[in-house]
Amino acid sequence: EFLFRKNIKMTAQLKDLIAKYAEYLKNKYGRDYVFKIMDFCGTHEWTIVHFGLRSLVPKNVELVPGPGCPVCVVPSYYIEEAIKLALDGVVIYTYGDAYRLPAIRPVKGVKSLAEAKAQGADVKVVSHILQAISLATHNKKPGMFLGIGFETVAPGYAVAILDGKIPENLKIMSLVKLTPPAAYLAIDTIREKPTDFPIMGVIAPGHVSTIIGAKAWTPIAENFGIPVVVAGFEPNDVLFAIAEVLRQLKNGESKVVIEYTRAVTWDGDLKAQAAIRKTFKTVDTAWRGIGFIPKSGLALREEYANIDAMLHFGIPELKPEAWRKDLPLNCRCAEVNLGKAKPTDCPLFMKACTPDRPIGPCMVSMEGACAVWARFGGGG
Ligand code: SF4
Repeated sequence: EFLFRKNIKMTAQLKDLIAKYAEYLKNKYGRDYVFKIMDFCGTHEWTIVHFGLRSLVPKNVELVPGPGCPVCVVPSYYIEEAIKLALDGVVIYTYGDAYRLPAIRPVKGVKSLAEAKAQGADVKVVSHILQAISLATHNKKPGMFLGIGFETVAPGYAVAILDGKIPENLKIMSLVKLTPPAAYLAIDTIREKPTDFPIMGVIAPGHVSTIIGAKAWTPIAENFGIPVVVAGFEPNDVLFAIAEVLRQLKNGESKVVIEYTRAVTWDGDLKAQAAIRKTFKTVDTAWRGIGFIPKSGLALREEYANIDAMLHFGIPELKPEAWRKDLPLNCRCAEVNLGKAKPTDCPLFMKACTPDRPIGPCMVSMEGACAVWARFGGGG
C-alpha cells in the first residue's frame, strides 16, 4: 500500500510538472502549437493506452505511436514464403503473434500460418528460439524458425548459433530489424510534411536500449535537434519521459537521457553486441507497407550459410525493385507505424478489422498500435 501511495503521489507530481512545462511552451511557441512526442515502442504504447496516460497530458502535447512492433513490419513476402514451405511439409516454428499475420497474396488460398495449420501443415508456436531448437532436435523433420524481432531478440539467436546449438534439420529465416533507422525515417517523414507539426521528442524503447545502449539514439537527438528519453514501461516511467522531453524543449536542449537507469546504460550490453556482430551483418531491409530502410536489418553472415533458411530453401531475397506495397486495400498500417495516422483514422478500424478478425498487420500483435487501441478503448 505504501508503494502504491508513493507511486500515485509521483504520478500527480509528474502530471503537474508536465502541465507546467506545457503551459510555458504555449507561451513560447503559441497557443495552437502541438508538441508531438513519438513513443517508438509498442509496449510504451500499451502502457500509454492501458493506463490512460493521454488523459493526463495537456491538449498541446500529443503522444504519437511509432514503428515499434516487430511483427507488424514483417513484409508479407516472407510470410508467403513461410506458408509455401509449411504447405510443402516443412515444420514452421513461429512466435504466437506472427501465427495469424495476414499475407497479402494468399498461397493456394491460404492467407496465414494459422490457416496453413488448419489445412494440416505443421506450424508450431514457440516462445523462444531455444524451444524451436528443442522441438526440432526431437522431431528430426526439416524445419524453419521465423526469426522475427528487434535488437532484443538478436543476442538470443546469436548465442544459440555461436554455441552450435542449431540442429542440422533447423534453418533460420532472419527477419531481425533495427530500431534507430526506422525511428529516424518516421521523424524525417513527418518533418517533410509542411502542414503537420514535427516530432519534437522521442520516448526511446527501454528493452531494445538495454542491448544497443542509449548512445544509439544520439544521431536522432543531434540531427533533428530534439530530446530523446530512454524510458521504462511503468506509467511513471513514461510520464517522467514526457516531462523530461518538455523540460529540454523549454531549455532549448536536445540530449539523450536515460530514465530507465535500472536496466539501460550508455554503451549497452557489449557482450551481446559482440555476439550479434559475429553472427549477423547489417543490411538494407524492407518494412511492411513502408519499403526498404537502409541498414535496418540483420542477415546471417556467410559463415552461417548452412543454417540460413533463405539459402537452404532457395528463397530469393526481397529486392527493392521487387518490393510492392504489401498492405490490404484501405489499411493505413504504414502511416500508423510512421506516426502519420492514428489507428482511428483507418476506415476499417473496428469495422472490418478487429482483433478477432485482423485485416492488417497492426491489428495482430499486442505490440501493434491498432490492436492496443482496439483492446483498450482508443488512445484518448
Ligand atoms: Fe490496417 Fe486494421 Fe489498423 Fe486499419 S485498423 S490500419 S486495416 S491494421
